[in-house]
Amino acid sequence: MSDFLSWAVPGVRALRPYQPGKPMEELEREYGIRESIKLASNENPNGPSPRALHALQTELGRIGLYPDGNGFRLKAKLAERCAVPAAALTLGNGSSEVLEFAVRAFVSVGDEVIVAQHAFAIYPILVQAAGGRCIEVPARDWGHDLVAMRAAVGERTRLIFIANPNNPTGTWLPAAELEAFIASLPQRVMVVVDEAYFEYASDPALGAAEYPNSLEWVARYPNLIVTRTFSKVYGLAGLRVGYAVSHPEVADLMNRIRPPFNVNSLALAAAEAALDDEAHLRASLAMNAEGMQYLGEIFSSLGLPYIPSIGNFVAVEVGDEAAAVYDALLHEGVIVRPVANYGMAHHLRVTVGSPAENQRFVAALKKVLGRA
Ligand SMILES: *Cc1c(COP(=O)(O)O)cnc(C)c1O
Repeated sequence: MSDFLSWAVPGVRALRPYQPGKPMEELEREYGIRESIKLASNENPNGPSPRALHALQTELGRIGLYPDGNGFRLKAKLAERCAVPAAALTLGNGSSEVLEFAVRAFVSVGDEVIVAQHAFAIYPILVQAAGGRCIEVPARDWGHDLVAMRAAVGERTRLIFIANPNNPTGTWLPAAELEAFIASLPQRVMVVVDEAYFEYASDPALGAAEYPNSLEWVARYPNLIVTRTFSKVYGLAGLRVGYAVSHPEVADLMNRIRPPFNVNSLALAAAEAALDDEAHLRASLAMNAEGMQYLGEIFSSLGLPYIPSIGNFVAVEVGDEAAAVYDALLHEGVIVRPVANYGMAHHLRVTVGSPAENQRFVAALKKVLGRA
């Protein structure tokens, strides 16, 4: 008899896989619906830059060859943009992969990792898989309570995850508060600042004047790892490419774990080209700021509380029937994200879409809530 469960490493036995947003194809297959919209995974409704698409076409002719395993050209461009040495960079198959490198490089069995309540669900999965212990610190006003997180640091704490802004809440930490927290930590405690939504969050139109550029701190705090991605505003989620900026010695450790050729040649080429399209970036940010304002106004007019967000998504409170609202929206062909697994059973998370998608979502929401 086989008993795979007992043969699995202890951290893996109790793992529950990450639940991604429902794919449109799946909804259409299961519900017999056509032309659904997905506002469930914080993808850019504008898609990728035409420059990225063009670069992909050129690169297609070369996919018989292995990619550049060191991502030299993308790293050179990122180093210039981020004003850091190329040796500070680690490329990942999505930034989730660099989050995993950080855990695998620093967390041994029995070590502790601190996360905030309602924080991104991938952190505890990575920690548990490595045999680490996740300490979840209760949130304050839906966001990270840095005082409580600092107080949770103990002898066995090796790493702290901070999502800024956090997903799914959209909450953020101002520069002074976050830097003081990082400065207060013992050097042996690594802190990962996950900036998947950096570009949205630093858009002045969303109004977070004190949102930091934590890359400026990397030279000062060798225990700081900042992660960013091409999956969100750059519209390249399907290609999987993200990166970390850290002290070069930390980058060296993470690169030792990195599987060879973890970022494919199409992703490298598209990411590099995407960085050059300022106009596409600005248009995407403008569409997001406008959509965010529109959704906020609608939620207010419907009397639905929401958590102010500086990302491209917003968590709205629809009451104790949130699961039923989610399901009813699916029947209207609108996919949003249930967040009960984040301890937010009364909320749904909605990605800010194109104007047409937002209107379609609002019409469906009103219908479902009987407010049409
Ligand atoms: C989307 C997201 C990521 C990154 O996803 P990748 O596609 O793996 O780059 C990381 N952190 C948070 C908080 C996110 O929401």
